[in-house]
Amino acid sequence: MTRDEIMALVRTVPDFPAPGILFRDLTTLITHPAGFSSCIGQMAHCVPGGIGAIAGVEARGFIFGAALAVHLGLGFIPVRKAGKLPVPTIGTDYALEYGAARIEIDPTLLALGQSVLLVDDLIATGGTALAAAHLLREAGAVCDTALFVIDLPDLGGMAKLAEQGVEGKALLK
Ligand code: IMP
Repeated sequence: MTRDEIMALVRTVPDFPAPGILFRDLTTLITHPAGFSSCIGQMAHCVPGGIGAIAGVEARGFIFGAALAVHLGLGFIPVRKAGKLPVPTIGTDYALEYGAARIEIDPTLLALGQSVLLVDDLIATGGTALAAAHLLREAGAVCDTALFVIDLPDLGGMAKLAEQGVEGKALLK
């Protein structure tokens, strides 16, 4: 499938989660077998060498991150919303496009110096990805690349990542 064909499988929902916001809904992509498979295959081509694990942000980053990890034969590290992990965690609070949130990880899942690729479905302002990259680094991992299905370039997230030494790539804009 071409990137345009994959893009056509993403549904745009007006006024969600608040009036005036156009929400990019990827459920229509992941329920399309050829579309989902093609998306993961093309994401795999964007993964740099030397990556030892994939980290994905709850919840939609789990879908794409875990599928990509299986595709590449790598393990998957969940970056979870607050209060979900049953073990001691490290966490960070951050601002969202529409609100605030906290994410947490279990630092014992990461080997010191391990190179981790961060994956999420979409980057908007970059707040979520930056918070996740900081957490992974705090746990001792190297996190200098991030991969998304969709980038909303007008919101400047990729530039924010670059300022912090994280190279972001996206399949679709
Ligand atoms: P950011 O932190 O502003 O970059 O927002 C990205 C985070 O919010 C990601 O975890 C996305 O899953 C979620 N998000 C923001 N806007 C959308 C959207 O239009 N569709 C799907 N997810 C979105």
